[in-house]
Amino acid sequence: MLKGKSALVTGSTSGIGLAIARAFAAQGANITLNGFGDAAAIEKLRSGIEQEFGVKAIYSGADMTKPDEIAAMVKTSEQTFGSLDVLMNNAGIQHVAPIEEFPIEKWNQIIAINLSAAFHTMRAAVPGMKARKWGRIISTASAHSLVASPFKAAYVTAKHGLAGLTKTVALEVATFGITCNCISPGYVWTPLVEKQIPDTMKARNMTADEVKRDVLLAAQPTKEFVTVDEVAGLAVYLCSDAARAITGANLSIDGGWTAA
Ligand code: NAD
Repeated sequence: MLKGKSALVTGSTSGIGLAIARAFAAQGANITLNGFGDAAAIEKLRSGIEQEFGVKAIYSGADMTKPDEIAAMVKTSEQTFGSLDVLMNNAGIQHVAPIEEFPIEKWNQIIAINLSAAFHTMRAAVPGMKARKWGRIISTASAHSLVASPFKAAYVTAKHGLAGLTKTVALEVATFGITCNCISPGYVWTPLVEKQIPDTMKARNMTADEVKRDVLLAAQPTKEFVTVDEVAGLAVYLCSDAARAITGANLSIDGGWTAA
């Protein structure tokens, strides 16, 4: 379905982004991987994608807090593959703390990575998509783009903003064959979720098992984590021709969380 096209997935060295990059490659897209991690482990992921799916894959270590690095990454992607057709904004971090103790640098970092980075990638990628009259822009938002949870001020703010940015850009590019949507997962078992357990234990005075049961899965009526492959499946669908009329949408994949 994506043969001859190229896809850039931010934050694709781990978790949801890695599953999406692999799913796009399985559809024939050339891939730009991005994110942090051990250089040898990232090279293994990159070469693994090339071997397994018979596509080309490059890696950019661009830091999503740095607008210049983001613009350069988009340019490299376009120059290497001749076009950037699918832009997946996925990089994200979390920090859990009460508002009065929320570290200012964590606020700034989360707004930069989880929200502003998507502005910078879209700003850089849209001209090429408009010229080619085809594009798919997808952002990994969150159930927290629709509802709040305590102690996640920066994350909830950034994800609500991402949903607004998505709607705005969708309207601007609607007549150019470009769609712009966000996907809003509930809790997906990835390093991002695992890492917030100790802070949530502290903030709520709970054990790890209590956090999983009474905080994380308490919100999800299915009582199960969403899988990274389920999120990737939705991203692939949004790239299909069948999804061409879906734009400006915020699609929940949250086991019923936001239905409650
Ligand atoms: P993860 O920690 O497994 O992956 C995050 C990725 O972002 C990694 O590749 C990491 O290296 C990269 N990253 C972090 N800071 C970066 C920076 N400054 N520049 C470039 N890359 C950077 O987390 P995940 O759970 O796979 O999260 C991916 C996205 O999904 C995030 O936007 C997150 O908010 C969202 N999300 C996750 C869940 C969940 O339950 N896991 C639920 C809803 C939404």
